[in-house]
Amino acid sequence: MLKEEFVIIGAGVAGLCAANRLADLGKHSVVIEGGEYPVPKVCGEFLSPECLDYLRSWDIKPAREIKDAHFYAGSHHMHFTLPISAASMPHMQRDRQLLDYAQRNGVDVLLHTKVVDLRREREGYVLHLSNGQVLQAGHLLIATGRLPQFHSSPPQFPYVGIKNHIKGVHLKNRIEMYAFQGAYIGLVAIDEDTANVVCLAERNQLERVESAETLVRGLVGQYPTLYQYFEKSTYGYSEWLTCKVPAFGIKMPSLEPRVYFLGDAAGSIPPVTGDGVAMAVSSGVMAAECASYDDAKGYRTRWLKQHHKHMRWGQLLHRIMLSPRQVKCALRICASFPKLSNFLFLKTRTKLY
Ligand SMILES: Cc1cc2nc3c(=O)[nH]c(=O)nc-3n(C[C@H](O)[C@H](O)[C@H](O)COP(=O)(O)OP(=O)(O)OC[C@H]3O[C@@H](n4cnc5c(N)ncnc54)[C@H](O)[C@@H]3O)c2cc1C
Repeated sequence: MLKEEFVIIGAGVAGLCAANRLADLGKHSVVIEGGEYPVPKVCGEFLSPECLDYLRSWDIKPAREIKDAHFYAGSHHMHFTLPISAASMPHMQRDRQLLDYAQRNGVDVLLHTKVVDLRREREGYVLHLSNGQVLQAGHLLIATGRLPQFHSSPPQFPYVGIKNHIKGVHLKNRIEMYAFQGAYIGLVAIDEDTANVVCLAERNQLERVESAETLVRGLVGQYPTLYQYFEKSTYGYSEWLTCKVPAFGIKMPSLEPRVYFLGDAAGSIPPVTGDGVAMAVSSGVMAAECASYDDAKGYRTRWLKQHHKHMRWGQLLHRIMLSPRQVKCALRICASFPKLSNFLFLKTRTKLY
């Protein structure tokens, strides 16, 4: 049986950031990824400001700076300048660069290898892999994403995520958010003339129509500005990418010695905040540092302290965004109290570890 001190399950942003941070600390790790990497995934491709310094330190250069946010709800439109500039980049590019840094720095990444069984034994954690290998881990970092893997609760998927790239759209340095009954759409520029478009909808919205594209086209027709983009654009992906999305919130399971849950496996924040990747980066870094001095308890306490309120604000914004009537009301309040939009933006950011 192969023995490793640090084993990371899942090569998403959280898993690779943990591996990169361990590499920076001079620790060797093995990352086990069930699928191919990178692969197209449903994601808004917005990068919150607080994770940019870490990404840059691993040679990842975001494609665009994002300075402004525009919100649309029915006939209402509000714009505000972000208190700190954010960024955007195609996630395939970001993930490829994260993986490159890891491999250049000695991280072993096993692709197409699933962890099929996991047990705690006296000497450590024993992992059975889909390729028949058995691995013993001293410290286990679980970064398996939002789909339940090693948690006990049965999966439920109240939402669906839908994404495409649309070409021929010039959004410059802004993100645009559109509210619908039971759904919202976000657009962000990812290069000179391409925007990433992502939709988060209640699952029943998709059940009522024949395809994800029909759903998005139906929504887009409700806003002339948005409709114009689609009228003159071509798609980056021939088929719209879709994914099931479970309920958002804290999932951090009970404490096991030398086990660290990170990224969406620890808790997922609604996409309206655009902060999921920043959470994955910060929890990856924090888990790597705590694992390097064997402090799973400290990690868990810090994670919960950091994200308890952060998640609540994210959930509040998410509930508001699913109702244009409430968004209109919120936009009116923000117009009367200009500092409120900055306050809400900052409340839904991850405090960097
Ligand atoms: C619709 C939508 C839009 C979003 N938009 C944004 C945005 O604009 N900005 C932002 O910051 N965040 C956004 N997010 C959130 C963001 O995408 C996630 O928070 C982030 O990707 C989480 O990264 P992760 O590494 O935790 O998980 P993942 O990226 O899901 O990675 C988990 C990995 O673990 C692997 N895995 C799982 N189980 C096993 C196993 N048993 N064995 C081996 N490997 C395994 C999977 O194959 C996968 O590669 C969005 C989310 C949604 C749903």
